[in-house]
Amino acid sequence: MKKVAAADVVIFGGGIAGLWLLNRLRQSGFSAILFESGSLGGGQTHKAQGIIHGGMKYALQGVLSADSKAMSEMPERWRQCLQGKGEIDLSAVPVLSSQHYLWAPTKFGSKLAGFFAGAALTSKVESLSKEHYPAVFQHPDFKGEVFSLDEIVIDVPILIRELVKANQDAVFKIEPLCDEELKFDDHGKLVSATVYMAGKAVEVSAQQFVFTAGAGNEVIIRKLKQPDVAMQRRPLHMVMVKTPFNYPLYAHCLGLGARPRITVTTHHTQNGSTVWYLGGQLAEDGIHKDSATQIQAAREELQTLFPWLDFATAEFASFMIDRAEPKQKGGMKPETSFIKVIENIIVAWPTKLALAPKLAEEILQQLQAAHLTQHLFDIRELRSWPMPPLAMPVWEDAFCKSAG
Ligand SMILES: Cc1cc2nc3c(=O)[nH]c(=O)nc-3n(C[C@H](O)[C@H](O)[C@H](O)COP(=O)(O)OP(=O)(O)OC[C@H]3O[C@@H](n4cnc5c(N)ncnc54)[C@H](O)[C@@H]3O)c2cc1C
Repeated sequence: MKKVAAADVVIFGGGIAGLWLLNRLRQSGFSAILFESGSLGGGQTHKAQGIIHGGMKYALQGVLSADSKAMSEMPERWRQCLQGKGEIDLSAVPVLSSQHYLWAPTKFGSKLAGFFAGAALTSKVESLSKEHYPAVFQHPDFKGEVFSLDEIVIDVPILIRELVKANQDAVFKIEPLCDEELKFDDHGKLVSATVYMAGKAVEVSAQQFVFTAGAGNEVIIRKLKQPDVAMQRRPLHMVMVKTPFNYPLYAHCLGLGARPRITVTTHHTQNGSTVWYLGGQLAEDGIHKDSATQIQAAREELQTLFPWLDFATAEFASFMIDRAEPKQKGGMKPETSFIKVIENIIVAWPTKLALAPKLAEEILQQLQAAHLTQHLFDIRELRSWPMPPLAMPVWEDAFCKSAG
């Protein structure tokens, strides 16, 4: 006989979007379960630099966009959670830096002050005196300027662990979902999805199905064939540097263009190494380079920006990753988070880790407005299914594999 399970809401995808949503749904009284086909956080989420943007990076273009406005509320919302006072208790998640910095490698003087005034964000950008610069910029050879931004940087792998903690009974590992396993009725409503694991199959029904599967949303998009639900991928070529020194740095470097020339965050491996994780324009420009060429570009950039540091003995690693997002005209960066409701299906992308609370709120409002009537819950057939593993931080994977 066919094995079945049911819940009010079934979520596909255990990155930040799915896990934040699962927490909010269960707190709000919905029966909800989540299926993950890889590892928890192992898509884009674990590759994030952990910056809870306040909109500054986007205002580098000199215009305060809708994106910047939505973003500007995020640091405070996350701070509440990190202090145990917000919508989810994240008091066990370390704040790697209580502020992010912006540095100009040379003095911009009045031009820079004018830029900040133009960006209408002066209250959130503070010019620092040298004694308050991050340690790496205290060096006499640093001739630029440093500003602090209203942005925090958090430990993403621990964030994911904490979001999973209270939901271990509701998170299940599955094999990759095929679109043939999705059963629709004549009105386009998704009736059930059959999920597989280690030779077992369970047909799962729900009142609402939510796809927060990042690039994996392609499965449902193919099936829906709706012109206004499409995905784009924007690749990045990220670089990690195991440094021979211990300077914690969380900062965007102001370049000539609209994007930060380089964005640095700092992470520590389990065996105590310090890793600088590099994004920004460097990662955007590196998408057509092989790893060796990208690493060489990163070495040269670091040596130009930090001539007083010696990177000769630093270890480098790089990897490519796609940002999976709703399709935009000309492949542009989306303005904000995205949800699309089609019958009882929601397709969602946060587009930024920082926007996961906003995305979950919008989905919750959608479900509350849909007035789910029955309270479906029968997961007996899933009880013996494994939980997906937590993903390994990318810097552990790159530099500590042999130690494990
Ligand atoms: C290099 C990089 C740096 C970034 N830095 C930042 C930053 O500093 N700050 C910020 O706010 N944002 C940042 N972002 C953006 C942010 O990481 C993403 O917007 C966010 O993590 C997306 O989360 P998600 O849950 O939608 O997707 P993912 O994290 O990709 O999660 C999707 C999950 O779904 C699973 N899955 C796929 N298919 C299926 C299926 N069929 N069934 C079940 N599960 C499935 C995958 O295995 C994966 O675990 C960064 C992104 C990148 C790539």
